[in-house]
Amino acid sequence: MEPLHEESIKMYFYENRLKTFEGWPFVEDCLCTPENMAKAGFIHTPSDNSPDIAMCFFCLKELEGWEPEDDPQKEHKSHSSSCQFLALKKKVEELTVEEFYKLQKEKHKFEINKSCNEDITKFEEAGKLRRAGIIKTAMGEE
Ligand SMILES: [Zn+2]
Repeated sequence: MEPLHEESIKMYFYENRLKTFEGWPFVEDCLCTPENMAKAGFIHTPSDNSPDIAMCFFCLKELEGWEPEDDPQKEHKSHSSSCQFLALKKKVEELTVEEFYKLQKEKHKFEINKSCNEDITKFEEAGKLRRAGIIKTAMGEE
């Protein structure tokens, strides 16, 4: 079991997620306000090119291209139906230690999955380059 570092549990709390939405482009007359985003489990993870990327802190699903009428809760559910944070019936503060550990274990699975998928993508890209190189050589272009 992973030790419970403060960083790894920080984003379970609404206030900490809300704080990440500084500079979020949707604040008024819309459904995807920072408050609704944070309530649905999202944290703001902008990049230089995309100021509106948000990621669920739990299932690590990243969504961008938000529209004012997007409901964060619904979007989250439709793109990541297996997110257990979304399925929580009580507030994080009301969970028992055992329930919390179970949840943290599930979160860990998402993290492992994501990093494996990133490794697989890197491996496949490296493989493609290598194959292209071999074909080039075989065709006598190099
Ligand atoms: Zn999620």
